[in-house]
Amino acid sequence: MMKDTVLIEEMTWPEVRDAIKGGKRRVIVMLGAMEQHGPHMAIGTDTYLGYATGERLARRLGDALVAPVVSLGYSVGHLPMAGTVSIEESTLEAVIVDVCRSLAHHGFREIILLCSHGGNYHALANVLPRIRAEHAAIRVSAITDFDEWLVAARDFALREGLDMTRLGVHAGQGETSLMLTYRPDLVHMDRAVEGFTGDASIRWKSKVPPPMDTMSPTGILGDARGSTAAIGEKMFAERIERLAQMIESGALAR
Ligand SMILES: [Zn+2]
Repeated sequence: MMKDTVLIEEMTWPEVRDAIKGGKRRVIVMLGAMEQHGPHMAIGTDTYLGYATGERLARRLGDALVAPVVSLGYSVGHLPMAGTVSIEESTLEAVIVDVCRSLAHHGFREIILLCSHGGNYHALANVLPRIRAEHAAIRVSAITDFDEWLVAARDFALREGLDMTRLGVHAGQGETSLMLTYRPDLVHMDRAVEGFTGDASIRWKSKVPPPMDTMSPTGILGDARGSTAAIGEKMFAERIERLAQMIESGALAR
């Protein structure tokens, strides 16, 4: 028996057609990555978290499907670590254009573009005006600013009594806890270590981020120790509710 799914790639084409006709008016496009996530977590973390976010958000909204997650992103700063696969920002922009062009054929009334990898925000911001111009009859919602995530993460840390420098911005306690809720089989907590816990803002404030190994030889920004599925569940619940409210209010549409 087919499972009840919101992931387009798990559906047949008539199922997708009928779901859209039946009220699934929104489609979520998550922009992931294939990049190192420390000595303890899988290369595909941002893509798996893209699936987790997309699926939870679609179920919370109730009227959305999830497009195949864009699994390659702009990860040039992580190339010193083996296994990272990066595409240029211009390539990513072209992929986003083509994905939206494809989805626009099928009757969706809103395309929601979200990053599950920080390095993708610039490309999304660059290309968004083109996408909105091309699909004037469809609402195109997006978050193009890493600060939105950062502010929400800091608020979460404050309320939960967690240390933002440990929660971190890459493969730290935050991201590791999220993965423990979704793919614990891809997290090796016995290899979780402390990474760089200083000011990492140069990574998202500069156009080309410095090579990761010059900042953190392990590839972690934050501290992966102390990660738990319980923290991850709370982070996920807050994140999904915040995203859903922004989408439902139309705040991401322009
Ligand atoms: Zn990540």
